[in-house]
Amino acid sequence: MESTKAIKRGTRILTEKPFAFVLKSKYRLERCDNCLEAAKVLKCSNCRYVSYCNRACQQAAWPLHKHECPFLKRVQPRVVPDAGRMLCRLILRLEHGGDLERGYYTEHGSRKFRDLMSHYAEIKNDAQRVEHLDSLHAVLTDMMIDSNSRSTVPNKTELMSIYGRLITNGFNILDAEMNSIGTAIYLGVSITDHSCQPNAVATFEGNELHVHATEDMPSLDWSKIFISYIDLLNTPEQRREDLKAHYYFLCVCSKCIDPQEQLDMNAAVCQGCAAAIDVEQPKCQCCNASVTAEQRQNYTETMSLTQSSLDAMKDVAYLDMCKVCLKKQSGVLHSLNVWHVKTLDAAFEAAIDVGKWSDALDYGQRLLPGFAKYHGAWNPLLGLLHMKLGKIQLYERNYKHAVHHLQEAHRILNVTHGRGHRLLHEQLQPLMLQARQEMSL
Ligand SMILES: [Zn+2]
Ligand SMILES: [Zn+2]
Ligand SMILES: [Zn+2]
Ligand SMILES: [Zn+2]
Repeated sequence: MESTKAIKRGTRILTEKPFAFVLKSKYRLERCDNCLEAAKVLKCSNCRYVSYCNRACQQAAWPLHKHECPFLKRVQPRVVPDAGRMLCRLILRLEHGGDLERGYYTEHGSRKFRDLMSHYAEIKNDAQRVEHLDSLHAVLTDMMIDSNSRSTVPNKTELMSIYGRLITNGFNILDAEMNSIGTAIYLGVSITDHSCQPNAVATFEGNELHVHATEDMPSLDWSKIFISYIDLLNTPEQRREDLKAHYYFLCVCSKCIDPQEQLDMNAAVCQGCAAAIDVEQPKCQCCNASVTAEQRQNYTETMSLTQSSLDAMKDVAYLDMCKVCLKKQSGVLHSLNVWHVKTLDAAFEAAIDVGKWSDALDYGQRLLPGFAKYHGAWNPLLGLLHMKLGKIQLYERNYKHAVHHLQEAHRILNVTHGRGHRLLHEQLQPLMLQARQEMSL
């Protein structure tokens, strides 16, 4: 039975502990394997593979870790791929009663691991997935050997059904700044479908998942609750590709079927009236100015430079490279062209990295409309952008602007993370207090 009580924007509609989770291996020496907190950590004295922030965390992790500990010890000093470690944990979890465990999404509605979609047939026919699973199978075979020297890896059919559920239902655990720090399976929340125009959002506190409503809802009806599985700062074409490759479905959300969305995201700017235009059209729809061959040529060159530069900066953004792109885009791409927005995003992060605060402020301000349009008005990334802008303004002693951005951040993060979240207590509220104090001096 579903609750018939109306849900207000900002209400937490689900709190869930993971069925299984792993910390990303690259954080092994700086975060706790149990609570995922960044801290001074101490290694498990047996496997020396995982670390904990304190004894309480080590003890809390032991019931599960004790099964994997000898396996991790076997492969030391090699690092197990994150997906391999996750599979190992899932196998162990299922071996020790996890197949009966339920994750609840309402008082009475629940799911078990076997209720999760596995997309078995699609995965079996996906050469890349099969190859990936084969490599993980080899890792597990090396690792999962019991005290009688027997392999405890399930047969390939079983392994593929577990792998399929992991691929289709796995969540990235995000830290407060929305960086991925781990992978997890949550049973209850797996009921939630995807939309590129979601009405709910998943955020995390440690390894605990929280889902908050970002729109008012007449009642708690999980068939009408959607979160986004993917990066929304992408064209419908890319989003559909991502969803198809990862989740094996074709998105038919209102945004994906709206042809205007694709046009807006790739728009050039009209030389006459600065409206968004489609360079394939002969004229601007607004002012009738002709689109010249030169303009088309320029557009094609700019888009290709931008796309190849963004590709090259996938892992780390360079301020100089961003500046070259932004210069080329000026007067060619519309301000809401998604590739321009992505470039601003990269430039903003790169400027922060090298401490160029006035550059960062400029890029960040220009980023706001694009973020609001594509991520949506109630998205954590928009809230975090305001928080970063507020922080920089505070640095630059522009207290009035700082307070404005911090208030905006608070308005959004209060909904997406909830008022009790540490991000608000430990970061946002102290900044706000400081900005107000400085302003009144
Ligand atoms: Zn801990
Ligand atoms: Zn251990
Ligand atoms: Zn969609
Ligand atoms: Zn025009």
